[in-house]
Amino acid sequence: MNTDITAPPARIKWDILAGIVVIHLGALAAFWTFTWPAFWLFVGLQFLTGLGITVGYHRLLTHRSFQVPKWLEYTLTVCGVLALQGGPLKWVSTHRVHHAFSDRANDPHSPTRGFWWAHMLWLFVWDDLTDVHEKYIRFVPDLNRDPIHRWLERASTPISFALGGLLFLAGGWPFLIWGYFVRTVFVYHGTWLVNSASHLWGDQTYDTNEGSRNNWWVALFSFGEGWHNNHHAYPHSAAHGLRWWEVDLSYLLIRFFGAMKWAKRIRLPQGGPARLPSAAPTPVKVLRPLRIPVPSLTV
Ligand SMILES: [Zn+2]
Ligand SMILES: [Zn+2]
Repeated sequence: MNTDITAPPARIKWDILAGIVVIHLGALAAFWTFTWPAFWLFVGLQFLTGLGITVGYHRLLTHRSFQVPKWLEYTLTVCGVLALQGGPLKWVSTHRVHHAFSDRANDPHSPTRGFWWAHMLWLFVWDDLTDVHEKYIRFVPDLNRDPIHRWLERASTPISFALGGLLFLAGGWPFLIWGYFVRTVFVYHGTWLVNSASHLWGDQTYDTNEGSRNNWWVALFSFGEGWHNNHHAYPHSAAHGLRWWEVDLSYLLIRFFGAMKWAKRIRLPQGGPARLPSAAPTPVKVLRPLRIPVPSLTV
């Protein structure tokens, strides 16, 4: 909640707002365009682009929780680009800011400003720290040194739109609506629920001094990212699910990359080799469910 009456009025990012409204409106056409080929295309692209975000943008580029050859790093990044969540530099920088200031004043999407703020409203409001190039670029010096990542940053939206064009050419409206609009909406809300629900509802295994939670249904919806309290406790761990029942599809893919000898230095909480510990990790401190005050949103 913005209690500073001298604060300047919020600057709305109308292009982002309009784009996300159009994506959601387009997804409504799903009811009139259903075909089984289009549905399976939706399923396949949801995995491809969703894992591009979780394994590519998040666990590889943001946290460097494992190492892969450049060809695989760029391939995973392109899969993330296709999710239409912006280019890798800005996405990674925003997420590193989130870890640096979790649920504090500079956190770009803390639910201390309300569920809907954390879920999606933050995307529509200008924030100097994550929107001014000179400021957000300081959080991604590694990616900014790489000309391929800089190019993918500039070309991310055209690349994603090009996929939409190809889908339309290949299968008309059913492919465009299900493969692009419906799929993008699903991946959006999977990512956004990590920021909103997984900072409000669920259990805290570790005392991380902010509101992150382990939320099983967000984990299912977001390929393992819902084990978010584990992640805040061990941000550099390639595995977010740390117990056998904490299903983590993204980590299974990283394990597959490891089995193929493509991924190396797969990091885990104990810093050991690429296999889960047989025993559950010792919690630093078990907390009772924490109630975060959720004031009304003022933007
Ligand atoms: Zn978080
Ligand atoms: Zn993270």
